Amino acid sequence: MRNTETVHLDNIPVVFAGYGIENKVYNDFANIDVKGKAVLLLTGQPQDSTGTYLLTGTKQAAIISSYQNLLRKKGAVLILLYNNRFTADTLLQRKSSFQTVYKNPLIQNNNLPVLMLSEERANDLLTASDKTIKSLVQDITKTLRPQSYDVNTNISNHIQIDITEEKAPNVIGVINGTDTSAGCIILSAHHDHVGRDGKNIYYGAVDNASGTVAIMEIATLMNKAIEKGFRPKRTIIFASYTGEEKGLLGSYHLAANPLFPIEKTRAVLNIDMMGRVDTFYSGKKADSNYAYILVVDSLNRGLRNSLFTANEKLGKLKLDTYYEQPQFMQRRLMGSDQYPFYLKGVPFIRIDCGFSKDYHQPTDTPDKINYELLSNQIQLTFLTTWNIAND
Ligand SMILES: [Zn+2]
Repeated sequence: MRNTETVHLDNIPVVFAGYGIENKVYNDFANIDVKGKAVLLLTGQPQDSTGTYLLTGTKQAAIISSYQNLLRKKGAVLILLYNNRFTADTLLQRKSSFQTVYKNPLIQNNNLPVLMLSEERANDLLTASDKTIKSLVQDITKTLRPQSYDVNTNISNHIQIDITEEKAPNVIGVINGTDTSAGCIILSAHHDHVGRDGKNIYYGAVDNASGTVAIMEIATLMNKAIEKGFRPKRTIIFASYTGEEKGLLGSYHLAANPLFPIEKTRAVLNIDMMGRVDTFYSGKKADSNYAYILVVDSLNRGLRNSLFTANEKLGKLKLDTYYEQPQFMQRRLMGSDQYPFYLKGVPFIRIDCGFSKDYHQPTDTPDKINYELLSNQIQLTFLTTWNIAND
């Protein structure tokens, strides 16, 4: 289904708000009000003249959450995003200078439009104040302080937003537990991947056919257990999500429209990529029987214990907590389908195999999978799920 909405913005003041960062160290919003305004933003983060990022003190950029939510909360009406990869020509070729935004059922008022600007267009807006994009970037680099200000220009804009509604299903399976008061656990993996661009097919064998296979295999095994008279205490929901690569769309949908009450959801176990020996382990020629884990058990439900107990019993894998270090934590947390449930307070375990050079490339193919490792990781997930479903 296609729909068109038109947003009329008449005589809206423009404000420059640097990189759109609100942080203790550096705050682009300290001295300006963006309410009811069009906000001109730079992409990236403040760096000094040697390329060191102010927020981290290293050559690695900090992980910061999206400026869109922040600006929505502050009441901005339009984002004007300067993008140095665009010129007026490339924007013409793209026919549209808009970013695609996907509706997110957990976030209200999704419709804050983002208009991308080439350098020429951004400078047009800045002429009244005698500045340019280059001079503003230089000022921030030199002083490492925000340079936000009211640009003293008003714009009128009639923006046409094309809305396309498409259906992409989550696939959900349920095993009912013996104790209806004991709540449920969710075992999840996403089944979508990057798709195609032109002639290239992105197969997504590791990301995340491996995880999808894992939950199907585990569901099959649990059914066999039930046939033999072993039914878990808690209900287990097997969730194969769509749209993870487009911004966790399937898991946001389930978190917003849960099959069982969120407060009765004991835990999420999410699998995103299994069975591939990552760059670290293959590079080091170290023992390749491992799994990266990320456990956030805010309600002290003993998830880590369930996982480690299962692993000890199987005795096959090293559980690697590398990505639980603070510098990786946020990206790992937000980067897969456990996140929408985390936002609603559900504890989780994420299990994965880490990154290889084929990550999000057409070369992510099944021949690269180490099937013994995949099998070991699936067994670990099975037993952990079983433990949590019965503890
Ligand atoms: Zn993935």
